[in-house]
Amino acid sequence: MDILKQRIIDSAEVLPGNVLKVDSFLNHQIDVELVSKLGAEWYERFKNEGITKILTIESAGIGIACLTAQYFKVPVVYAKKSRGVTVGNDYHTTKVVSYTHGQVYDVIISKNAISKDDKVLIIDDFLANGSAIKVLIHIAEMGGATVAGAGVAIEKAYLGGGKDIRAMGYRIESLVKIKSINSKTITFDE
Ligand code: 5GP
Repeated sequence: MDILKQRIIDSAEVLPGNVLKVDSFLNHQIDVELVSKLGAEWYERFKNEGITKILTIESAGIGIACLTAQYFKVPVVYAKKSRGVTVGNDYHTTKVVSYTHGQVYDVIISKNAISKDDKVLIIDDFLANGSAIKVLIHIAEMGGATVAGAGVAIEKAYLGGGKDIRAMGYRIESLVKIKSINSKTITFDE
């Protein structure tokens, strides 16, 4: 997707560990007009799938998921990283390794947030090693839902997480694929 690619070229910074800082448009500060266009694109790609819920993980995914859900006209469920009192005792939980922090943390959704009647579209900002998307697939399936696929804004294709998940039979629609990041130079796949 050219507008997203161009914004990465214009505004992304490469941090140590090849972490892309996209705080001026995707994380931290959100360019609502741009992210709405990402949502519209995923809607075009998944509109015939009978999506009933958008699923993401807090916190970076929430804004992107909400701007996408406005096209599908379905609710957003975001998996939580801590069990606040409002979650109660009836929840599904699993663990994920954070790409940016390297820590393992719990991921939680209430059992009443997703059911076997749901067809879920997963949305997230980045796909790197694939842990975040895999955990969202897992937790959706723990709730009995069907996973229609995942939409990610930026896939670090060189890390192979997307290849793995596609090989498991899931559809992933990433809007920009990064082929390599070398001493601050970002190369795109297509
Ligand atoms: P994965 O679980 O696929 O290894 O990593 C995806 C998660 O890590 C995303 O939810 C995202 O928050 C974070 N992430 C991975 N790579 C980057 C990056 O280059 N920049 C930022 N800002 N987040 C990233």
